[in-house]
Amino acid sequence: MQYKIRQQRLRDALDQSGLDALLLTHLPNVRYLCGFTGSAAALLITADKAFFFTDGRYTTQAKDEVEGSRLVTGRKGPLALLVDWMKANLRSRKPMRLGIEAGHVTVAEHRQLTATLPKSVRLRPSPPLVEQMRMVKDAEEISQIRRAALLGCRLFDGALKTIRPGVKETEVAAAMGYAATQAGAEGMSFDTIIAAGPRSALPHGRASSQPIPPDGFVVCDFGVILAGYCSDMTRTLYVGSPGAEARSIYGAVLEAQQAAVEAIKPGRSVGDVDYAARKVLQKNTLARYFTHSTGHGVGLEIHEAPRLAAGQREILKPGMVVTVEPGAYIPHKWGVRIEDMVVVTEAGCEVLTPTGKQLIAV
Ligand code: ZN
Ligand code: ZN
Repeated sequence: MQYKIRQQRLRDALDQSGLDALLLTHLPNVRYLCGFTGSAAALLITADKAFFFTDGRYTTQAKDEVEGSRLVTGRKGPLALLVDWMKANLRSRKPMRLGIEAGHVTVAEHRQLTATLPKSVRLRPSPPLVEQMRMVKDAEEISQIRRAALLGCRLFDGALKTIRPGVKETEVAAAMGYAATQAGAEGMSFDTIIAAGPRSALPHGRASSQPIPPDGFVVCDFGVILAGYCSDMTRTLYVGSPGAEARSIYGAVLEAQQAAVEAIKPGRSVGDVDYAARKVLQKNTLARYFTHSTGHGVGLEIHEAPRLAAGQREILKPGMVVTVEPGAYIPHKWGVRIEDMVVVTEAGCEVLTPTGKQLIAV
Protein backbone atom coordinates (compact mmCIF):
# COMPACT_ATOMS: atom_id res chain seq x y z
CA MET A 1 0.00 0.00 0.00
CA GLN A 2 1.03 3.54 -0.69
CA TYR A 3 1.00 4.79 2.88
CA LYS A 4 3.60 7.52 2.40
CA ILE A 5 1.71 8.90 -0.58
CA ARG A 6 -1.50 8.92 1.45
CA GLN A 7 0.20 10.70 4.32
CA GLN A 8 1.56 13.30 1.92
CA ARG A 9 -1.87 13.90 0.42
CA LEU A 10 -3.25 14.36 3.91
CA ARG A 11 -0.55 16.98 4.64
CA ASP A 12 -1.72 18.98 1.64
CA ALA A 13 -5.26 18.88 3.04
CA LEU A 14 -4.00 19.89 6.50
CA ASP A 15 -2.33 22.91 5.04
CA GLN A 16 -5.58 23.99 3.42
CA SER A 17 -7.47 23.49 6.70
CA GLY A 18 -5.06 25.71 8.65
CA LEU A 19 -3.76 22.88 10.83
CA ASP A 20 -0.11 22.24 11.75
CA ALA A 21 -0.69 18.60 12.58
CA LEU A 22 -3.47 16.04 12.86
CA LEU A 23 -4.06 13.45 15.56
CA LEU A 24 -5.88 10.37 14.30
CA THR A 25 -7.54 7.90 16.63
CA HIS A 26 -10.29 6.45 14.43
CA LEU A 27 -8.80 3.03 13.69
CA PRO A 28 -9.91 2.69 10.03
CA ASN A 29 -8.25 6.06 9.37
CA VAL A 30 -5.09 4.96 11.19
CA ARG A 31 -5.05 1.75 9.18
CA TYR A 32 -5.54 3.64 5.93
CA LEU A 33 -2.56 5.89 6.64
CA CYS A 34 -0.02 3.44 8.06
CA GLY A 35 -1.29 -0.15 7.83
CA PHE A 36 -1.88 -0.96 11.52
CA THR A 37 -4.75 -3.42 12.05
CA GLY A 38 -4.83 -3.62 15.87
CA SER A 39 -7.40 -2.14 18.24
CA ALA A 40 -5.47 0.59 20.11
CA ALA A 41 -3.52 3.29 18.32
CA ALA A 42 -3.00 6.97 17.70
CA LEU A 43 -1.24 8.46 14.71
CA LEU A 44 0.21 11.96 14.63
CA ILE A 45 0.78 13.45 11.20
CA THR A 46 2.97 16.57 11.31
CA ALA A 47 4.18 18.79 8.48
CA ASP A 48 7.00 16.38 7.61
CA LYS A 49 6.74 13.25 9.75
CA ALA A 50 4.36 10.64 11.14
CA PHE A 51 4.45 9.14 14.64
CA PHE A 52 2.56 6.04 15.66
CA PHE A 53 1.59 5.32 19.30
CA THR A 54 0.40 2.02 20.72
CA ASP A 55 0.60 0.07 23.96
CA GLY A 56 2.89 -2.85 24.76
CA ARG A 57 0.47 -5.53 23.56
CA TYR A 58 1.00 -4.35 20.02
CA THR A 59 4.77 -3.70 19.91
CA THR A 60 5.52 -6.70 17.69
CA GLN A 61 2.47 -6.28 15.49
CA ALA A 62 3.19 -2.58 15.02
CA LYS A 63 6.78 -3.34 13.97
CA ASP A 64 5.45 -5.79 11.38
CA GLU A 65 2.62 -3.68 10.03
CA VAL A 66 3.20 0.04 10.44
CA GLU A 67 4.83 1.82 7.52
CA GLY A 68 6.01 5.37 6.99
CA SER A 69 5.81 6.29 10.70
CA ARG A 70 8.10 6.32 13.73
CA LEU A 71 6.91 3.89 16.39
CA VAL A 72 6.37 4.96 19.98
CA THR A 73 5.27 2.13 22.28
CA GLY A 74 5.05 1.84 26.04
CA ARG A 75 2.98 0.74 28.98
CA LYS A 76 0.40 3.49 28.75
CA GLY A 77 -2.50 3.90 26.36
CA PRO A 78 -1.89 5.55 22.96
CA LEU A 79 -3.11 9.03 23.96
CA ALA A 80 -1.08 9.11 27.18
CA LEU A 81 1.99 8.03 25.19
CA LEU A 82 1.32 10.79 22.69
CA VAL A 83 1.08 13.40 25.47
CA ASP A 84 4.36 12.22 27.04
CA TRP A 85 6.04 12.23 23.68
CA MET A 86 4.85 15.75 22.86
CA LYS A 87 6.02 17.06 26.22
CA ALA A 88 9.45 15.58 25.63
CA ASN A 89 9.81 16.52 21.98
CA LEU A 90 8.03 19.80 21.36
CA ARG A 91 10.93 22.19 21.37
CA SER A 92 9.23 25.26 20.03
CA ARG A 93 6.92 27.26 22.26
CA LYS A 94 5.19 28.57 19.18
CA PRO A 95 1.48 27.67 19.31
CA MET A 96 0.72 24.48 17.41
CA ARG A 97 -2.71 23.98 15.88
CA LEU A 98 -3.38 20.29 16.40
CA GLY A 99 -6.42 18.90 14.62
CA ILE A 100 -8.47 16.18 16.29
CA GLU A 101 -11.12 14.13 14.50
CA ALA A 102 -14.29 15.97 15.46
CA GLY A 103 -16.47 13.01 14.51
CA HIS A 104 -14.57 10.47 16.60
CA VAL A 105 -12.84 11.94 19.68
CA THR A 106 -14.91 11.35 22.82
CA VAL A 107 -15.59 14.00 25.46
CA ALA A 108 -13.39 12.04 27.88
CA GLU A 109 -10.49 11.91 25.42
CA HIS A 110 -10.86 15.59 24.68
CA ARG A 111 -10.71 16.36 28.41
CA GLN A 112 -7.66 14.13 28.83
CA LEU A 113 -5.85 15.92 25.99
CA THR A 114 -6.69 19.47 27.10
CA ALA A 115 -5.69 18.68 30.69
CA THR A 116 -2.35 17.07 29.85
CA LEU A 117 -0.94 18.47 26.59
CA PRO A 118 1.57 21.34 26.74
CA LYS A 119 -0.18 24.70 26.75
CA SER A 120 1.30 25.66 23.38
CA VAL A 121 -0.78 22.93 21.72
CA ARG A 122 -4.17 24.27 20.64
CA LEU A 123 -6.73 21.61 19.83
CA ARG A 124 -8.88 22.29 16.79
CA PRO A 125 -11.76 20.15 15.53
CA SER A 126 -10.81 18.79 12.12
CA PRO A 127 -13.21 18.07 9.27
CA PRO A 128 -13.24 14.42 8.09
CA LEU A 129 -10.14 14.82 5.91
CA VAL A 130 -9.17 11.15 5.83
CA GLU A 131 -12.75 10.05 5.17
CA GLN A 132 -12.73 12.43 2.19
CA MET A 133 -9.58 10.77 0.85
CA ARG A 134 -10.96 7.29 1.49
CA MET A 135 -14.00 7.93 -0.71
CA VAL A 136 -11.93 7.40 -3.86
CA LYS A 137 -10.31 3.98 -3.83
CA ASP A 138 -6.99 3.17 -5.50
CA ALA A 139 -6.50 0.16 -7.78
CA GLU A 140 -5.26 -2.07 -4.96
CA GLU A 141 -8.26 -1.25 -2.79
CA ILE A 142 -10.67 -1.86 -5.66
CA SER A 143 -9.18 -5.29 -6.28
CA GLN A 144 -9.57 -6.19 -2.57
CA ILE A 145 -13.16 -4.95 -2.59
CA ARG A 146 -13.84 -6.91 -5.75
CA ARG A 147 -12.63 -10.10 -4.04
CA ALA A 148 -14.78 -9.40 -0.99
CA ALA A 149 -17.84 -8.75 -3.16
CA LEU A 150 -17.35 -11.97 -5.12
CA LEU A 151 -17.04 -13.96 -1.91
CA GLY A 152 -20.36 -12.40 -0.86
CA CYS A 153 -21.93 -13.66 -4.09
CA ARG A 154 -20.67 -17.18 -3.39
CA LEU A 155 -22.19 -17.06 0.10
CA PHE A 156 -25.56 -16.23 -1.40
CA ASP A 157 -25.34 -19.25 -3.71
CA GLY A 158 -24.82 -21.36 -0.57
CA ALA A 159 -27.67 -19.64 1.29
CA LEU A 160 -30.06 -20.50 -1.54
CA LYS A 161 -29.54 -24.16 -0.66
CA THR A 162 -30.35 -23.66 3.04
CA ILE A 163 -33.34 -21.30 2.85
CA ARG A 164 -36.42 -23.50 3.26
CA PRO A 165 -39.65 -23.23 5.28
CA GLY A 166 -39.02 -24.21 8.91
CA VAL A 167 -35.29 -23.39 8.90
CA LYS A 168 -34.46 -20.68 11.42
CA GLU A 169 -33.19 -17.35 10.08
CA THR A 170 -30.20 -17.62 12.44
CA GLU A 171 -29.30 -21.03 10.97
CA VAL A 172 -29.04 -19.47 7.52
CA ALA A 173 -26.97 -16.58 8.88
CA ALA A 174 -24.68 -18.91 10.85
CA ALA A 175 -24.05 -21.11 7.81
CA MET A 176 -23.11 -18.02 5.80
CA GLY A 177 -20.77 -16.81 8.56
CA TYR A 178 -19.08 -20.20 8.75
CA ALA A 179 -18.65 -20.42 4.98
CA ALA A 180 -17.18 -16.89 4.97
CA THR A 181 -14.53 -17.70 7.57
CA GLN A 182 -13.76 -21.01 5.86
CA ALA A 183 -13.09 -19.00 2.71
CA GLY A 184 -10.60 -16.76 4.53
CA ALA A 185 -12.77 -13.82 5.58
CA GLU A 186 -12.03 -12.13 8.92
CA GLY A 187 -15.76 -12.14 9.57
CA MET A 188 -19.02 -10.65 8.39
CA SER A 189 -19.06 -6.90 7.84
CA PHE A 190 -22.25 -6.55 9.94
CA ASP A 191 -24.83 -8.82 11.59
CA THR A 192 -26.36 -10.77 8.72
CA ILE A 193 -29.92 -9.81 7.91
CA ILE A 194 -32.16 -12.76 7.11
CA ALA A 195 -35.71 -11.44 7.42
CA ALA A 196 -38.48 -13.80 6.34
CA GLY A 197 -42.24 -13.41 5.95
CA PRO A 198 -43.63 -10.31 7.71
CA ARG A 199 -40.14 -9.66 9.16
CA SER A 200 -38.97 -8.82 5.62
CA ALA A 201 -40.77 -5.49 6.17
CA LEU A 202 -38.10 -4.57 8.76
CA PRO A 203 -35.33 -2.86 6.76
CA HIS A 204 -32.82 -3.98 9.42
CA GLY A 205 -34.31 -7.34 10.36
CA ARG A 206 -31.25 -9.03 11.82
CA ALA A 207 -31.63 -12.82 11.63
CA SER A 208 -33.86 -14.05 14.48
CA SER A 209 -34.69 -17.49 15.84
CA GLN A 210 -37.94 -17.39 13.86
CA PRO A 211 -38.39 -20.30 11.44
CA ILE A 212 -38.86 -19.24 7.82
CA PRO A 213 -42.62 -19.31 7.10
CA PRO A 214 -43.94 -21.37 4.16
CA ASP A 215 -44.94 -18.37 2.06
CA GLY A 216 -43.38 -14.93 1.66
CA PHE A 217 -40.27 -12.91 0.86
CA VAL A 218 -36.90 -13.47 2.51
CA VAL A 219 -34.55 -10.47 2.53
CA CYS A 220 -30.88 -11.52 2.73
CA ASP A 221 -28.48 -8.61 3.37
CA PHE A 222 -24.93 -9.52 4.25
CA GLY A 223 -21.26 -8.89 3.61
CA VAL A 224 -17.81 -10.13 4.48
CA ILE A 225 -14.57 -8.51 5.58
CA LEU A 226 -11.69 -9.78 3.48
CA ALA A 227 -8.18 -8.37 3.97
CA GLY A 228 -9.76 -5.45 5.81
CA TYR A 229 -12.26 -4.52 3.10
CA CYS A 230 -16.00 -4.91 3.44
CA SER A 231 -18.60 -6.15 1.03
CA ASP A 232 -22.35 -5.55 1.17
CA MET A 233 -25.18 -6.97 -0.94
CA THR A 234 -28.87 -7.84 -0.67
CA ARG A 235 -31.02 -10.28 -2.54
CA THR A 236 -34.66 -10.96 -1.81
CA LEU A 237 -36.14 -14.31 -2.73
CA TYR A 238 -39.56 -15.83 -2.35
CA VAL A 239 -40.41 -18.96 -0.41
CA GLY A 240 -43.48 -20.57 -1.95
CA SER A 241 -45.02 -19.31 -5.16
CA PRO A 242 -45.26 -15.54 -5.53
CA GLY A 243 -48.62 -14.13 -6.63
CA ALA A 244 -49.17 -11.12 -8.87
CA GLU A 245 -48.89 -8.61 -6.02
CA ALA A 246 -45.57 -10.03 -4.84
CA ARG A 247 -44.23 -10.04 -8.40
CA SER A 248 -45.36 -6.48 -8.86
CA ILE A 249 -43.60 -5.05 -5.76
CA TYR A 250 -40.48 -7.04 -6.59
CA GLY A 251 -40.54 -5.78 -10.18
CA ALA A 252 -40.90 -2.17 -9.04
CA VAL A 253 -37.94 -2.41 -6.63
CA LEU A 254 -35.83 -4.10 -9.31
CA GLU A 255 -36.68 -1.38 -11.84
CA ALA A 256 -35.79 1.31 -9.25
CA GLN A 257 -32.51 -0.42 -8.47
CA GLN A 258 -31.56 -0.70 -12.15
CA ALA A 259 -32.50 2.93 -12.77
CA ALA A 260 -30.21 4.01 -9.92
CA VAL A 261 -27.32 1.85 -11.19
CA GLU A 262 -27.75 3.41 -14.62
CA ALA A 263 -27.70 6.88 -13.06
CA ILE A 264 -24.21 6.35 -11.64
CA LYS A 265 -21.68 8.30 -13.67
CA PRO A 266 -18.75 10.53 -12.80
CA GLY A 267 -19.85 14.15 -12.47
CA ARG A 268 -23.36 13.33 -11.25
CA SER A 269 -24.46 14.09 -7.73
CA VAL A 270 -25.33 11.32 -5.30
CA GLY A 271 -28.71 13.01 -4.77
CA ASP A 272 -29.51 12.41 -8.46
CA VAL A 273 -28.89 8.68 -8.02
CA ASP A 274 -31.23 8.60 -5.04
CA TYR A 275 -33.84 10.44 -7.06
CA ALA A 276 -33.54 7.98 -9.96
CA ALA A 277 -34.57 5.14 -7.63
CA ARG A 278 -37.24 7.13 -5.81
CA LYS A 279 -38.86 8.28 -9.05
CA VAL A 280 -39.52 4.68 -10.17
CA LEU A 281 -41.04 3.81 -6.80
CA GLN A 282 -43.17 6.96 -6.93
CA LYS A 283 -44.56 5.84 -10.30
CA ASN A 284 -45.53 2.55 -8.63
CA THR A 285 -47.04 4.35 -5.58
CA LEU A 286 -44.40 2.73 -3.38
CA ALA A 287 -42.25 5.78 -2.63
CA ARG A 288 -43.62 6.16 0.91
CA TYR A 289 -42.54 2.60 1.67
CA PHE A 290 -38.94 3.35 0.70
CA THR A 291 -37.82 4.58 4.11
CA HIS A 292 -34.03 4.73 3.85
CA SER A 293 -31.41 6.22 1.55
CA THR A 294 -30.41 4.61 -1.75
CA GLY A 295 -26.85 3.72 -0.83
CA HIS A 296 -23.54 4.41 0.87
CA GLY A 297 -19.82 4.14 0.31
CA VAL A 298 -18.08 0.90 1.33
CA GLY A 299 -14.41 0.21 2.01
CA LEU A 300 -12.49 -0.33 5.23
CA GLU A 301 -15.83 0.36 6.91
CA ILE A 302 -19.24 -0.95 5.95
CA HIS A 303 -20.76 2.53 5.92
CA GLU A 304 -18.54 5.27 4.54
CA ALA A 305 -18.96 8.51 2.65
CA PRO A 306 -20.62 9.33 0.34
CA ARG A 307 -24.26 8.81 1.31
CA LEU A 308 -26.56 8.37 -1.67
CA ALA A 309 -29.54 10.22 -0.24
CA ALA A 310 -31.99 12.99 -1.10
CA GLY A 311 -30.38 16.41 -0.79
CA GLN A 312 -26.78 15.09 -0.73
CA ARG A 313 -24.55 16.96 -3.17
CA GLU A 314 -21.35 14.93 -3.26
CA ILE A 315 -20.24 14.44 -6.87
CA LEU A 316 -19.42 10.93 -8.04
CA LYS A 317 -15.80 10.35 -9.07
CA PRO A 318 -14.10 7.36 -10.70
CA GLY A 319 -12.86 5.01 -7.98
CA MET A 320 -15.74 5.57 -5.56
CA VAL A 321 -17.33 2.32 -4.39
CA VAL A 322 -20.96 2.62 -3.36
CA THR A 323 -24.01 0.45 -2.79
CA VAL A 324 -27.30 0.84 -4.65
CA GLU A 325 -30.07 -0.56 -2.47
CA PRO A 326 -33.59 0.74 -2.81
CA GLY A 327 -36.35 -1.20 -1.09
CA ALA A 328 -40.05 -1.11 -0.29
CA TYR A 329 -41.45 -2.27 3.04
CA ILE A 330 -45.14 -2.72 3.75
CA PRO A 331 -45.36 -2.95 7.55
CA HIS A 332 -46.46 -6.34 8.95
CA LYS A 333 -46.80 -7.71 5.45
CA TRP A 334 -43.59 -7.95 3.49
CA GLY A 335 -40.60 -6.12 2.12
CA VAL A 336 -38.16 -6.26 -0.79
CA ARG A 337 -34.65 -4.84 -1.12
CA ILE A 338 -32.08 -5.40 -3.85
CA GLU A 339 -28.54 -4.18 -3.30
CA ASP A 340 -25.44 -4.21 -5.47
CA MET A 341 -22.00 -2.77 -4.90
CA VAL A 342 -20.64 -0.75 -7.80
CA VAL A 343 -17.39 1.03 -8.57
CA VAL A 344 -17.63 4.32 -10.43
CA THR A 345 -15.61 4.15 -13.67
CA GLU A 346 -14.65 6.80 -16.24
CA ALA A 347 -17.71 5.92 -18.32
CA GLY A 348 -20.32 5.02 -15.70
CA CYS A 349 -20.05 2.19 -13.23
CA GLU A 350 -19.23 -1.48 -12.95
CA VAL A 351 -21.33 -3.79 -10.79
CA LEU A 352 -19.13 -5.77 -8.38
CA THR A 353 -21.88 -8.18 -7.27
CA PRO A 354 -22.92 -10.06 -10.43
CA THR A 355 -25.47 -12.39 -8.73
CA GLY A 356 -28.68 -12.43 -10.79
CA LYS A 357 -31.56 -10.22 -9.75
CA GLN A 358 -34.59 -11.93 -11.27
CA LEU A 359 -37.03 -13.12 -8.61
CA ILE A 360 -36.08 -16.58 -7.36
CA ALA A 361 -38.72 -18.78 -5.73
CA VAL A 362 -37.62 -21.70 -3.54
ZN1 ZN B 1 -26.56 -4.30 2.78
ZN1 ZN C 1 -25.73 -1.38 2.34
